[in-house]
Parts: sequence; structure tokens; C-alpha cells
Amino acid sequence: MSNGYDSDLKLFIDGERIGAAGRATHRVVNPATGETLGELPLATPADLDRALETAARGYKLWRGRSAAERSNVLSGAARLLRERIDKIARIATMEEGKTLPEAKGELHMAANLFDFYAGEVYRIYGRVLVRPAGMLSRVMKEPVGPVAAFCPWNFPIGNPARKLGAAIGAGCSIIIKPPEEAPGSALAVLDSLLDAGLPREVASVVFGVPDMVSRHLLASPIIRKISFTGSVPVGKHLMKLAAEGAKRTTMELGGHGPVLIFDDADLDKALDLLVPHKFRNAGQVCVSPTRFYVQEGVYERFSKEFALRAGKIKVGDGLNPAHHMGPMANHRRPDAIEAFVDDAVKAGARVATGGTRGGGTHDKGYFFKPTVLTDVPLEARVMNEEPFGPIALMRPFKTFDDAIEQANRLPFGLAAYCFTENGRRALLLGDAIESGMIGINTTMIGGADSPFGGVKDSGHGSEDGPEGLEACLVVKAIHQA
Ligand code: NAD
Repeated sequence: MSNGYDSDLKLFIDGERIGAAGRATHRVVNPATGETLGELPLATPADLDRALETAARGYKLWRGRSAAERSNVLSGAARLLRERIDKIARIATMEEGKTLPEAKGELHMAANLFDFYAGEVYRIYGRVLVRPAGMLSRVMKEPVGPVAAFCPWNFPIGNPARKLGAAIGAGCSIIIKPPEEAPGSALAVLDSLLDAGLPREVASVVFGVPDMVSRHLLASPIIRKISFTGSVPVGKHLMKLAAEGAKRTTMELGGHGPVLIFDDADLDKALDLLVPHKFRNAGQVCVSPTRFYVQEGVYERFSKEFALRAGKIKVGDGLNPAHHMGPMANHRRPDAIEAFVDDAVKAGARVATGGTRGGGTHDKGYFFKPTVLTDVPLEARVMNEEPFGPIALMRPFKTFDDAIEQANRLPFGLAAYCFTENGRRALLLGDAIESGMIGINTTMIGGADSPFGGVKDSGHGSEDGPEGLEACLVVKAIHQA
């Protein structure tokens, strides 16, 4: 294509690539330029029925395949993803906005996860129980059955890979609905699996009106598990639908990451790690560090330096290597961040840097400047709702107990970060913070071998790590005399 967006936007059901042909379509837009990238066909109820029937067939076929076969598909796909990195990263940047290095990092994350699951597949062990002679009691792990998975737009390569990798490794079939706003990346991940030998019945990709698709798929007895990443209200809605069919769920529902900076922290190290981590993907990351609670003695110094560094971040089209931060992914995000800033300022917060749209290179892009607000009152909306944008909120605290109270104040519990050079305090922090993932003196809180997921309203169940595969398995006890 002349604009360099190299993706064939189609549904993929039972091995067939299905174009619009009379279906409604969704216009896919480059958030950096406002340019149209393509028209995406949206699935009809008949398409979804076909995907369901395919998933039922795909499950029967795939659950009987050996560990070696499943493993080879996953490791082959990992290799193909890495070979195709330039093409796929470009697609992700054009449809989601993140910079090319970020898109490449995301692709490596996906490939590493496929490799990890390729190994884990060999370790789906059962056990044999001690019983009287002549009796055999086995505990088996089996795939849960066909999975329906719903992915958000913020990690268009990594999130579909998480859901596809776990289901395929466990021996399930899967119907995946990637985000309509960033569809090409997920299709490229699918292609890597198909080209590595995944039978065409095992994975279908559908796009559509999200509520219609999820209601249709979840109403079917064929689907045995759903996996969703997105916002808390949508997750709770899907859990209710899943409950009607007693379907298993994995829910990754976002957070409001607290960061506790103690006065004995290595501030330079904390800033070096936290500033880029905050503005990665323009802050549209569920584990983004967002509420910065800084101990009184270092509050001024830390917030000033953080704002100074944030103000120097170059914003623009993510395809241009000179830019450190791309646009926001869709027009809803700058609107939301602007409203959060206005509300916080009215409540008494001060804008240390940013606070307005723009900063990008193209008038039609959804750019918002890296923003730091200080002395943000607890009543401000942004201190209570997930902002999901390039905004860091600063507040001072006095004691350890104050800091813990603030960190645990909200119903979220996904990611938290602490910086202190005091080992005893670090130990206590790890115990006291209610969060699925905690980084102490680090922002590296994930990895292919590490469970990713939250507690409280941030959801339940983990992806990645052995836990990610386990979430697609069920146990069966077989007693034979
Ligand atoms: P949204 O709440 O409408 O949608 C969130 C995601 O859920 C999207 O991918 C959407 O396609 C999907 N979705 C919506 N309704 C659905 C349904 N009925 N069935 C299946 N999928 C459905 O909002 P949005 O504007 O896309 O994103 C806004 C908020 O979502 C953000 O502020 C953030 O809190 C949250 N979010 C979280 C993550 C995450 O990684 N946990 C990712 C993206 C968005």
C-alpha cells in the first residue's frame, strides 16, 4: 500500500479470509495523522455462528495433538514473528500510535511468550494417587474447551499473542476478537501461527460491534471460557454474561498504579526508570505508574525533576525515530485526559508541565502533551478513576502507614511500584500492598515466565507464566478398579 500499511483487513473463519461483501465496516485510522488505513469488515451473526461451529471442530482436533505438535507451532510462530518484525511493528505503530521501538519491544514480548509456552506445553503434568493394588486413580489436566477472547487496542500485538498462546498451548480452540481500532497487528500474529502449522480450525479471528459479538459468543454452549482485557465496567458486564453459562473467566481490567517514593530512595535511579515507564505508549498501559506518593523530604525535588524530564519528551508520529512518545490511540483518549486535567485543576491541582492537547507533528493526530500535576487533591476525579493517558499525579506523604493507606485506597490492584534503599521497609511493602504485581526499585514487573494479573476490581486470573497456561486447563479425576 502507498501509505505503507501492509495489512489485508479481513475476518478469518475456518481458514477463509472474509472481506466486506455487504457487511458493515469500521474505518481504521492512523491516530498520528487522521489518515484512513483501511475498512474492516464486521462480523454478522451468521459469521459468528460459523466461527462457533469451527471452534467446536477445532477443539476436537487440537486437544488430541501431542505436546510436540503444539510446541512446534508455538516456537515456529515465535521465529516467524521475529523474522517479520519490521513489517508487523510498522502496522502496530500506524494503527495504534506507539513508537516503532515500543512496537518492536511488544513483538519480542509476544515471541518470548510463544517460546515460553512452547516449553511449558511439555509440563502439563497430571498425577497418580496412592490406592489399593489393582486400582488406578489418575488426576488429569485437560484443555478447558473453546475459548472466546477479547483484546484491547493498547497492545495490539502482545495482547492477542497472550490469549492465542495460552489457548493453543493448552490444546483449546479459540475465537479471538482483536480491537477494531488496531486489527492488522493481531492478523499478523495469527499468520505467524498458521504459517507455523496451526490447523485452520483452531483459531478464528472476528471483528464486530463488541457488545453484539460478546453476547453472541457467550450465549453459545460451545464456548467454555472467556478471556478479556479492558475496562472494569466492561469486564463486570462480561462476567455477568459468563455466569449465565457457568463459563470460566480470566479478567484483566486495568489499574491505577501507585508509586511510593521514600526519602531514602535512589532518586536518580527512580527518575531514570519511572519517567520513560510512565510515558510508554502515551500512558495507555494498564500497569502504568500513575499516582506518585512522594515522602515529604524529597517531594519538591522529585516532582520538579520528573516534570522537567517529562517536558523534554519529544511527541510526534511514532514512525519517526526522533519521537519518544506517539499520539493517543483514538479520539476518546485526549478528550478524557483533557477533562481529567480540567477537573483536577478546578479541585486545586497545579500543572507542572503539559496539561493540554498537541505537542505532536500533525494537526489531525490525537496528541496530548506529557503532563505532570502536583498537589492533586484526593477528591479530583483523576485520583480515583483510571486515567489511561500521559499523566503523572504527585502528592506528598508523611509516614509508611500513610503511604500504604494511599496505595490501597482505591478498588484497583494491578501494579504498584516502590522505591526505597531500606531492605526491611522493602520487605514490609511487598507484604502490605494490595496488588497483583509489585516492583520494588524496578519497573520490570513482567516477563514470559511471570504471572500478569490483578486483584480486587483489577480482575482475576493470570496471563503469562505457567499460570497463563493453567488458566486454560481443567482437572479431571479418573478412578479405575
Ligand atoms: P471501553 O470500556 O468501551 O472498551 C474497553 C475495551 O473493551 C475495548 O477494547 C473494547 O473494544 C472492549 N469492549 C467494549 N465493550 C465490549 C463488550 N460489550 N464486549 C466485548 N468487548 C468490549 O473503552 P475504551 O474507550 O476502548 O477504553 C477506555 C478504558 O478502557 C480506558 O480508560 C482503560 O481504563 C480501559 N482499558 C484497559 C485496558 C487494559 O489493558 N486493561 C486496555 C484498554 C482499555
